[in-house]
Amino acid sequence: MIYFRNTIYEELIAYGKQHLPYECCGVLIGQNQQEDIFIEQFIPITNVAKNKRKQFMFCPKQWTTILLQYEHHEQHNIVGIFHSHPDEEPFPSSEDKKLMWRSIPTYWIASYRDKPILEGFHITEDQWFHPVSYKFI
Ligand SMILES: [Zn+2]
Repeated sequence: MIYFRNTIYEELIAYGKQHLPYECCGVLIGQNQQEDIFIEQFIPITNVAKNKRKQFMFCPKQWTTILLQYEHHEQHNIVGIFHSHPDEEPFPSSEDKKLMWRSIPTYWIASYRDKPILEGFHITEDQWFHPVSYKFI
């Protein structure tokens, strides 16, 4: 099961809203314990994509710093990738599928097409995105 700290959820929805009409992005930090993932912190990363309305790309410098900091951290790891869809549904686009990071267990999209919604996915070995459910703590 995936557990979400309530404040992080609010933070993600607000962060995405603040960047409309552009996509925004970042990573989720937490604990990955066997079957459970605890999402505890959101770290925003600047979107440096050329077409920010339809794409996201992590600022390489910020992304490298975060990877180095958390790659071998004992308790806290990068457990999710987050980005927003200003006017598309909360499902990975074909561009998103090309840019996924397979070693990171979850993938999150906030959509503002209708009322704000957050959807989470697991990326499996066959490189497929499977919807996940989550609980608040
Ligand atoms: Zn996308």
